Amino acid sequence: MTSRKIRTRIAPSPTGFLHLGTARTALYSWAYARHFGGEFVLRIEDTDVARSTQDSVDQILESMRWLGLDYDEGPIYQMQRLDRYKAVIDQMIAEGKAYHCYSTPEELEATREAKRAKGEKTLYDGRWRPAPGKTLPAIPAGVQPVVRFCNPPDGDVTWDDLVKGPITISNHEIDDLIIARTDGVPTYNFAVVVDDWDMEISHVFRGDEHINNTPWQINIFNALGAPLPHFGHCPVILGDDGQKLSKRRGAVSVTAYEEGGYLPEAMLNYLARLGWSHGDEELFSSEQLVAWFDGTHLNKSPAQWDPVKLLWVNAHYIRLADNTRLANLVALQLVKLGIPLEAETIATHLPQVCALLKDRCDTTVALATWAAKFYGDVTPDATEHAQHVTDAVRPAIALLAAKLEVCTWDKAAIAAAIKEVLAAHAIKMPQLAMPVRVLVMGTAQTPSLDSVLEICGREKVIGRLAKA
Ligand code: GLU
Repeated sequence: MTSRKIRTRIAPSPTGFLHLGTARTALYSWAYARHFGGEFVLRIEDTDVARSTQDSVDQILESMRWLGLDYDEGPIYQMQRLDRYKAVIDQMIAEGKAYHCYSTPEELEATREAKRAKGEKTLYDGRWRPAPGKTLPAIPAGVQPVVRFCNPPDGDVTWDDLVKGPITISNHEIDDLIIARTDGVPTYNFAVVVDDWDMEISHVFRGDEHINNTPWQINIFNALGAPLPHFGHCPVILGDDGQKLSKRRGAVSVTAYEEGGYLPEAMLNYLARLGWSHGDEELFSSEQLVAWFDGTHLNKSPAQWDPVKLLWVNAHYIRLADNTRLANLVALQLVKLGIPLEAETIATHLPQVCALLKDRCDTTVALATWAAKFYGDVTPDATEHAQHVTDAVRPAIALLAAKLEVCTWDKAAIAAAIKEVLAAHAIKMPQLAMPVRVLVMGTAQTPSLDSVLEICGREKVIGRLAKA
């Protein structure tokens, strides 16, 4: 088994967006394959026909692309492999490893109810399971059978989980799993095994909600004579209230973070660190992740989603990001604010705005809120206006406006004009800078004034100072 080629996969069900938990296991699977020079497969588990949608498939593919999780094979769709599943099921029935079960849902529920009443486990009673010398019930007319797997009646299923360590579950705890529904469509636990077998998957990383499914899957692998992959079950991600992260508790989809102004490298860094560590490293690139990620140091206990830390990580990557790249992202956010910009502005002017402001922004949404002040209207904060734009300073502001109207429009000339006004009115820098900031940017907290004025542009600056 250890000599197998390393092949991992992520197998999302397209019944919603790419969930953060799935994105994280996708990331681990991807990094593991890349670390060992193996291959990573994307499989779309769309057998839940009623809940699967093309829109979800599109969202999943887009999120994978955004996170930079490139795959070597796929997307492979389970619904395009029905013939293969059917062939395996027919073979299993022929070999006595699976059987038709004609119990109706009502009958099953009645049996479960009776068992519950007696305080027994509500496992399937095996009435349609063939056995030497056993007479099966007469096949009822008009009932479409399901197919059940002949689970080993005794013994234990044991595996050494890559995350949780050794796990043992008794076969007495599990029953004869339905592997094909009445319409012939296979169930998850069966299709996943045939796929992992056919796709030669060596390592399965997935959420620990699947731990209870793994014994069934191992038994099916064994029944098929297929080599077992290694399994690693990652704990759930908890919300900041300690409950499982869910839609009701805020954003859970990768897409929401893309829209919320996070950079993919920040998400990748944060998600990887959430549930895995490499020494004390908090900030690392995807190349470093690949170099370090060998499937060890995965946390056994659930990680807590920390929006504040994610913002800190994002702010780090925003600071590092190229200004033209940021400008393109900010331009998309500005459109949402009703401020579409010309391509020329996005290419030449907006990058300067980003360079000036990225140190103080932790998302591109925050950056866009700042950038909007350079392109849209500005309404000075009323309190700050009352505090800083006083009658005492108005003459100085007027003088500055007059000087700015005629000076060369560059940072040095603007700085010189400011100095002249300070000297002429015998005031200190903050006495002039604060009101000018409030008038031009709407707030007194801005980057250096001469840079702000230069990038804001003469016409806008003069217009805004005129409202003093
Ligand atoms: N479709 C399953 C899910 O989204 C895949 C589980 C697995 O990786 O085996 O949870």
